[in-house]
Amino acid sequence: MRPFEYRRATDARSAVGALRGRADAMYLGGGTNLVDLMRLGVATPAVLVDVSGATSDAIEESGDGDLLIGAGVRNSDLAAHPVVRRRYPMLAQAVLAGASGQIRNMATVGGNLLQRTRCSYFQDVAKPCNKHRPGSGCPAREGDHRNLAIIGHSASCVATHPSDMAVALAALGATVHIEGADGPRTVPMPGLHRLPGDEPDRDTVLEPGDLITAVELPALPFAAVSRYRKVRDRASFAFAVVSVAAALDLADGVVRDCRIALGGVAHVPWRAAMAESALRGAPATAAEFSRAADLELAAARPLPENAFKVPLARNVLVRTLSELAS
Ligand SMILES: Cc1cc2nc3c(=O)[nH]c(=O)nc-3n(C[C@H](O)[C@H](O)[C@H](O)COP(=O)(O)OP(=O)(O)OC[C@H]3O[C@@H](n4cnc5c(N)ncnc54)[C@H](O)[C@@H]3O)c2cc1C
Ligand code: SF4
Repeated sequence: MRPFEYRRATDARSAVGALRGRADAMYLGGGTNLVDLMRLGVATPAVLVDVSGATSDAIEESGDGDLLIGAGVRNSDLAAHPVVRRRYPMLAQAVLAGASGQIRNMATVGGNLLQRTRCSYFQDVAKPCNKHRPGSGCPAREGDHRNLAIIGHSASCVATHPSDMAVALAALGATVHIEGADGPRTVPMPGLHRLPGDEPDRDTVLEPGDLITAVELPALPFAAVSRYRKVRDRASFAFAVVSVAAALDLADGVVRDCRIALGGVAHVPWRAAMAESALRGAPATAAEFSRAADLELAAARPLPENAFKVPLARNVLVRTLSELAS
């Protein structure tokens, strides 16, 4: 591993100041993704600015019912928090479906959102990859893409976003709080992560040096009955092949409102906006859930080895909604 300087920031402004004008510096959260990438030579920062103590590690309810989660909150603490478990069970389930207990104890909310893709070519510096070396090509299109994207990908990149937590946050319509060079601002989810287009090296809309300080969840009473379902190759320690985060608001057997997002299918946590609008006002039946899933997945463009993900995503979505409805 290349030698690096380690610094510890004590507050958000000084963290942002430490990265200003330094393209060779990076923030360090729990280090569970970044340190792996440094060992592999994929990330080569000269300076690491530890921000685990520079952002809040608290989870606080506001007067209007929103929930503010500090970017320094560890994944384990988020999943175990009684308010999260009661009001947003899909979020607690999504976090618990990821990694291992030890990794969740280290991983932070900010770092989880910005973890990099698990595409095997991206993690191997000996291979071409448009994400780590723009213009070098995308061998995954012709090579190993079984677990890569089926929707929203481009000729430049077919990678998927790996975070389970981000799928739940996209479904819930979270707001990401950022401290940047020009001060604080917010970005909605979905909206933090971007489709690859012809710039797959940019995972998000963040500018260099932007620090995630918190994530805010809206008061969403019907999210108290919500679910995260993840399909993976092993029962633990495996990323999603396909996942679904969903919440249903029902009245007399009719869908009054809903929130749905898919994981493991795109370069972003995929908010299923077409399925949601098809379901609002529709009877909460398996037939309507199937119709909505088909509408959403009509835009899927699978590659030869991952076409199985389309019926898989459809079936997981229909089953998750059916369980919520019952
Ligand atoms: C074996 C293994 C299995 C895993 N399985 C899963 C899984 O199934 N599902 C899943 O979702 N995840 C999984 N993970 C990934 C894990 O969840 C992430 O590594 C972790 O969430 C990253 O958080 P961190 O705080 O350690 O981030 P770090 O590694 O410290 O940082 C990650 C990135 O975020 C940046 N960063 C960190 N904090 C901030 C901030 N506040 N503002 C701006 N930038 C910041 C860093 O510069 C870096 O680029 C797995 C990891 C491992 C090692
Ligand atoms: S899919 Fe994206 S990350 Fe994977 S090799 Fe292609 S460009 Fe690189």
